[in-house]
Amino acid sequence: MKLLCVGSVAYDTVATPFGRRERILGGSATYFSVAASYFAGVGIMAVVGEDFRSEDRRVLEKHKVDLEGLRTVPGGLTFHWHGEYGYDLNDAQTLKTDLNVLAGFAPDVPEVYRDAPFVCLANIDPKVQLRVLDQLRSPKLVAADTMNFWIDNRRAELREVLSRVHLLIVNEAEARQLSQEYNLLKAGQKILAWGPKMVIVKRGEYGVLKITPHSVFAAPAYPLESVFDPTGAGDTFAGGFMGFLSTCAELDSTAVRQAIVMGSVMASFNVEDFSLNRLSALSRAEIQERFSAFRKLTEFSGLE
Ligand code: AMP
Repeated sequence: MKLLCVGSVAYDTVATPFGRRERILGGSATYFSVAASYFAGVGIMAVVGEDFRSEDRRVLEKHKVDLEGLRTVPGGLTFHWHGEYGYDLNDAQTLKTDLNVLAGFAPDVPEVYRDAPFVCLANIDPKVQLRVLDQLRSPKLVAADTMNFWIDNRRAELREVLSRVHLLIVNEAEARQLSQEYNLLKAGQKILAWGPKMVIVKRGEYGVLKITPHSVFAAPAYPLESVFDPTGAGDTFAGGFMGFLSTCAELDSTAVRQAIVMGSVMASFNVEDFSLNRLSALSRAEIQERFSAFRKLTEFSGLE
């Protein structure tokens, strides 16, 4: 197992200017693992309730996501997130977070996952992220994600997570809230001082910034005419990014930059439909084609 992701498997109720869907499949581990599955074997650690539908489990199975770490709590209800977007699709408003079975989730890492070289501590309670970190043997690269809910409620635990991971992947509002700095470069440097070697700031339709102590790399988002639902774009980015990196012989800066573009490619597909409808039906050729289109999008030398 090359990749391990701990995070949420959720039912989302989502309203965007283009429609509303009730209790559709979502969750940070769901988006991450399906995106990563196009590159390497991935296992998830997450929890669902008895209401988790078999057709949703089949979405994960179809992508050969290892489900040994997916627990079902008898009589429990799956985590439910209710969010809304206005015309600024970069700005999700959380209307309700029903933790349900997520509230008591204290997983033990299955033996087969303990040696996973690439680990994503996706959006979930930082206490769970720490518990998982404690049980890993010697991961090559650990990335963490989080969101406002945990920044508000678990700041101290989150700081401990940051002191123990290589990489933080957050959106710009989270970077600002976490660092209490408006400027993203200053926010990035402040977070770097807390531990990670690299901070990746997702800026929705404006792309991504990678910040290290001595460098900045910027990639645009792929310009799309039809964006329906940005939910999961961040987790999909992380899945494409980590999935691609796990296939690279060297984790040098070229690999990281290419992985950022691949993460952006995967996220661009995800926002074209609700839930995982588009993400779970991709072909290798479509992914490669958009990766090449990205190269053209940002080329600015040797064009004569
Ligand atoms: P993203 O749009 O990539 O930031 O993530 C959206 C996903 O995060 C949704 O599918 C939600 O189910 C999930 N989510 C929302 N709030 C939380 C939370 N507090 N903990 C874990 N997952 C969450």
